[in-house]
Amino acid sequence: MKILVANRGEIARRVMATARRLGHQTVAVYADPDAGAPFVAEADAAVRLGPAELAASYLSVPRLIAALEASGADAVHPGYGFLAENAAFARAVQAAGATWIGPKPEAIEAMGSKIEARRLAAAAGVPIIPGFDTSQDPAALADAASAIGYPVLIKAAAGGGGKGIRIVHEPAGFAAALREASTEAERSFGDGAVIVERYIQRPRHVEVQVVGDRYGTVIHLGTRECSVQRRYQKVLEEAPAPNLPDATRAGLQTAAVELARSIGYDSAGTMEFIVDDETGDFFFLEMNTRLQVEHPVTECVTGLDLVELMFRSAAGEPVAVAQESVTFSGHAFEARINAEDPANGFAPQIGTVTHLRVPAGVRWDAAVVEGSAITPFYDSMVAKLITHGPDREAARRQLATALDGLVLGGLVTNTGFQRWLVDQPPVVAGRVTTRFLDETALPPTPPPALTEAALAWRTTTADTRGPAPWAAMGSFRLTPHRPRQVVALRAAGAGGVGAPAETHEVEVDASVAARWEGVGRLEIVDDGADAARRVAASVDRPGRSVAVNVGGYTHSFDVVSRSERWAPAAGAGHGSATAITAPFPAAVAEVLVTPGQAVGGGDPVVVIEAMKMLHTLSAAGAGTVDEVRVAAGDQVQSNQVLVTFADPES
Ligand code: ADP
Ligand code: ADP
Ligand code: MG
Repeated sequence: MKILVANRGEIARRVMATARRLGHQTVAVYADPDAGAPFVAEADAAVRLGPAELAASYLSVPRLIAALEASGADAVHPGYGFLAENAAFARAVQAAGATWIGPKPEAIEAMGSKIEARRLAAAAGVPIIPGFDTSQDPAALADAASAIGYPVLIKAAAGGGGKGIRIVHEPAGFAAALREASTEAERSFGDGAVIVERYIQRPRHVEVQVVGDRYGTVIHLGTRECSVQRRYQKVLEEAPAPNLPDATRAGLQTAAVELARSIGYDSAGTMEFIVDDETGDFFFLEMNTRLQVEHPVTECVTGLDLVELMFRSAAGEPVAVAQESVTFSGHAFEARINAEDPANGFAPQIGTVTHLRVPAGVRWDAAVVEGSAITPFYDSMVAKLITHGPDREAARRQLATALDGLVLGGLVTNTGFQRWLVDQPPVVAGRVTTRFLDETALPPTPPPALTEAALAWRTTTADTRGPAPWAAMGSFRLTPHRPRQVVALRAAGAGGVGAPAETHEVEVDASVAARWEGVGRLEIVDDGADAARRVAASVDRPGRSVAVNVGGYTHSFDVVSRSERWAPAAGAGHGSATAITAPFPAAVAEVLVTPGQAVGGGDPVVVIEAMKMLHTLSAAGAGTVDEVRVAAGDQVQSNQVLVTFADPES
């Protein structure tokens, strides 16, 4: 069989891995920015869809169907996101004579709207959140919110990925939040319909994986906990959900199976629930009629391949595993690795992966390899780091160790933030609500790991006539006749927002010794310190760059040669008093000012969109708008001037 994967990045690679294992041929489809991506290189065949714009590529049903026909593929797996929950696409695939590797289109449709899904859940006897309203009249919704009782949540009916969700604490904020949620819903899903519902005060997000077939069989593969969230988006997931009363777990699993059965669900899917941590009550949230990002943790604990189960159901085979024979072994965690800067409001980052070392013994589902570019066109998740241990604590420690051993350099990512998270007491205890990250002070940004980076570089290059760096493993490489050395380092990967990188002259002398203890592992011995420190590190000698992991953060540097050392660094700020410039390549979503308009410091001026997120650029000081150089819909480059000001204050 030949399987076309209508997706990109890590999930395209993930689906193709199973296809290959089962002896199928694979077809990738790609937009221009992905032409050099690993998922394209690894496929047996690849079809270009078009330019970067989603509407011309991954979201274009006609282009995907044309690719299907041109490639002669027999089946389509949609991955997650994009058109995975689009019934019209599923039908178009079937109309083209190919197999849709997913649920029947009617099931996608039924669960596509949170309004309809809620109705179906209630009909199947599954508890739904008490207090909600689906009328679309603003005044009626406001009345409903007051009747439900604040705080309430406004959600996009067609929602997904946390888009179009606003929490409202009091009546005064309702109208503005409704407008925002509805605009975001319209923008993201082409449907501004919303629902209003009671906000559960101590919510946990617990979900149940189900698998069904065409013959009415539905089994569940246990629970996952995804309560560690930021802006309603999952950050760290695990299976099974810890600290659930037996009755709650059993109730969730039964409810999930009954609801799936009631709609004749015939593929892999996920029922999401809110569990009230105060009462243990649970309520149906939504069903995702597709493979989920966090499916690997379920695969780890059940030993099943969910993509394979989807292939089999789609081929008309009955679910081969009986519920009684599903076994659960140990515990698994998944950390989402995103190209984003936690120290900078989690702003998405672009750049090139210059260094990549993944520790052994973990599952690494990644979109990238060394040399891969992260472009501004798609979402910021670049990889998932998954660990599986005999119990929860073992799996958690493995994740911590893996995050300490990972080197992912060349751009800023959230690995250090994840490393911090793994040790937070509520995470250690398995007692997290979705409010955890909002209620917790985030870790301070660590100082750049200059000494470690300089040592890694020096240890590799000290004897330039010696053998290759890795051949010297195990022996100290300090050259006694060069006791003091200056290594000039410039932070790499400041491709996104941030000050221009300065050059640091780092002096390392004989009071510290370092050696390569194994590939990618540097042992550092400080004079007077009791024990050696170990850091994961990677040196690219011809590329003159070095990346070291300290505390989970990969710090990447270019090693500056003497001749370059005095050259001025490039780059500029983004919100000066005289102009607003784009901090990264993006699309202009909205221009909020017109020429002649007076603005105050902090006033929003332009909203740009990159990596599926909206970013508001604000005035640095008071002034009058002089020129507006862009309009909504324009594609802008990094550092491009968007709006200028006359008579700025400073
Ligand atoms: P999406 O389609 O964007 O995934 P969901 O309905 O699944 O939307 O909600 C996303 C997240 O928002 C949930 O995981 C949960 O953390 C939070 N959430 C949703 N509804 C409620 C609620 N009524 N009370 C508290 N938190 C909620
Ligand atoms: P190159 O011409 O190789 O770019 P320089 O002329 O600046 O470098 O320096 C000569 C020697 O000093 C080289 O052999 C190199 O190994 C070492 N060196 C250069 N730059 C650095 C640096 N930033 N840190 C440590 N050693 C350096
Ligand atoms: Mg959801």
